Amino acid sequence: NRPISEVDPEIAEVLRLELDRQQRTLEMIASENFVPQAVLDAQGSVLTNKYAEGYPGKRYYGGCEHVDVAEQLAIDRAKAIFGADHANVQPHSGAQANTAVFHALLTPGDTIMGLSLAHGGHLTHGMKINVSGRLYDIAPYEVERETSRIDMEKVAQIARERRPKMIIAGWSAYPRQLDFAAFRAIADEVGALLMVDMAHFAGLVAAGLHPSPVPHADVVTTTVHKTLGGPRSGIILCREEHAKKINSAVFPGQQGGPLEHVIAAKAVALKIAASPLFKERQERTIAGAQAVAAELMNAPEGISVLTGGTDVHLALVDLRDSELDGQQAEDRLHEIGITVNRNAVPFDPRPPMVTSGLRVGTPALATRGLQAEDFTEVGRIIATALTPAFDGAKAELTERVTAIADRYPLYEHLSAAAAV
Ligand code: PLP
Repeated sequence: NRPISEVDPEIAEVLRLELDRQQRTLEMIASENFVPQAVLDAQGSVLTNKYAEGYPGKRYYGGCEHVDVAEQLAIDRAKAIFGADHANVQPHSGAQANTAVFHALLTPGDTIMGLSLAHGGHLTHGMKINVSGRLYDIAPYEVERETSRIDMEKVAQIARERRPKMIIAGWSAYPRQLDFAAFRAIADEVGALLMVDMAHFAGLVAAGLHPSPVPHADVVTTTVHKTLGGPRSGIILCREEHAKKINSAVFPGQQGGPLEHVIAAKAVALKIAASPLFKERQERTIAGAQAVAAELMNAPEGISVLTGGTDVHLALVDLRDSELDGQQAEDRLHEIGITVNRNAVPFDPRPPMVTSGLRVGTPALATRGLQAEDFTEVGRIIATALTPAFDGAKAELTERVTAIADRYPLYEHLSAAAAV
């Protein structure tokens, strides 16, 4: 029972430094969040010791009576909060969830339609070297050059031409809501299954602030660690008719023993997601992203934001006409203590490792407690950092970032515990 600082001082030091980094900087990676202590408690628990291949009540190992309770709670809460017939809470990640769905409902060689990676889709939606692109025939759809939005008429045209077996709606970098009913109508017209990957916006759906894909889709996948604010992992929701195939594609089709400590943490996160405080946090998340986008666009230099704003938890800065590229912009924000990721924008003239965009998200800062006026200040800081004034303003911008971080302390009890 020796503490990690004695057993492995090098890793203990990594933990200390990472806690310090999260506390001192402003986290604006759109796919990240801060889990509450209750989630850390479940995830760092003795449940990590347990093998539980199978499903609650039908395991291939003895001693599963307690993990069964945790997994059933996670299943019941996922079904309740999203109004789904069936939930599988075992996928280790979002990518695993998506791959399991393909494994359950498709045969290699089948055609899938998904939003192209270069236009905001996820790599599991058909990127060439991802398993999705290697096993299946991919018919990508894109956003429009003029509007940066998906045109459902174009999606319908591609579907009519390519007759996909499955259409995927969902994104990693798209600042607007999708029209799930229109996707359903197209899928029905061409006889395709509809899968919605709500990894990014699941928290907004849970809070009732974004239309739910569940009534429209055959299958809905999600991660738990983005807006939903839980442990790094995935969930699959589906109609009853697909339940058996989905379960057997996850286990034994794709995974072995489920991570019951993570599943318990998912249950905790889903309980929290049903609370009024969670809804209030998601409201601040969206309002915050809108405030940041507005400050960027209203800056004297007029920084371009894709689609002219956002309906969700992120804004996409468009640097295609700027001398500054995505890498330089990311580095500048890093220098003053704001963490974001550079991101290709549609029709990006720069290479994928450089890009002409930044994806700026507000879930983690909303969890930290930031209010509307704080997000406006964050928007002003980012706007100045992306202009030629940056070099002269660096010290002042860093101070303003630190002032916000100090105003909204994070995991204070963990620093106190580490100092003992
Ligand atoms: N689906 C979408 C839309 C995502 O944005 C992501 C992650 O970025 C994933 C799936 C994959 O999740 P994970 O990183 O947990 O595999």
